[in-house]
Amino acid sequence: MRIDIITCVPELLDSPLSHSIVGRAIKNNLVEIHIQDLREYGLGPRKNVDDYSYGGDAGMVLMVEPVYNLINDLKAQRSYDEVIYMSPDGEILSQAISNELSLKQNLILLCGHYKGIDQRIREHLVTREISIGDYVVSGGEIPAAILADSIVRLLPGALSDETSALSDSFQDGLLSPPVYTRPAEFNGWKVPDVLLSGNPKLIKSWQDEQSLERTKLLRPELLKKF
Ligand code: SAH
Repeated sequence: MRIDIITCVPELLDSPLSHSIVGRAIKNNLVEIHIQDLREYGLGPRKNVDDYSYGGDAGMVLMVEPVYNLINDLKAQRSYDEVIYMSPDGEILSQAISNELSLKQNLILLCGHYKGIDQRIREHLVTREISIGDYVVSGGEIPAAILADSIVRLLPGALSDETSALSDSFQDGLLSPPVYTRPAEFNGWKVPDVLLSGNPKLIKSWQDEQSLERTKLLRPELLKKF
């Protein structure tokens, strides 16, 4: 898989995608993540990528031309399954969307900044718009890093125990059960006896019950879908 992330602040993406599970997946060649600096396609001697918005609203808007040229250059080299604009008014990211995107070959993630991007980019170049939730952050970079992370951790081989993504929250429509590690007792706080029983069947049924209980308590609306 290959993910190209288009940004005018590439520094924002340096760290979140170079460590831990995503960093390892890149090192092990499960995925290539290319940060594309929009400024290299900026216009004029100052390499401008944004301009004032028509109508006089406060805030700068990313211009069509640099984004158009960069996307065209990428498309000339390979075909892309989706050009995704990270946007607060897009469809809200879910495990189902990450699962679906983890099966694709080539993805472009486009990050807006300031006031957003020229609407014509969305109409003519973007194939899908994804939000990380009903709140606004300053740029599309952190949302793109979240989306990329949620996709990459699903690629076969990304997690050391491959089944562990399947037992994460939302994969089966339920929240995950609580987890514990050693010591079995700290400060008088005990790990539930069943987890120390060594009986896989009992443990599994306790975990299932906990998943269901926690979902009922914390996210009852998930049960309706399940
Ligand atoms: N004026 C826009 C917000 C712009 S925020 C509006 O009110 O809809 C600047 C950029 O940050 C956006 O272009 C988008 O790429 C990104 N962004 C902000 N919040 C986001 C969210 N919840 N999900 C995904 N991207 C978001």
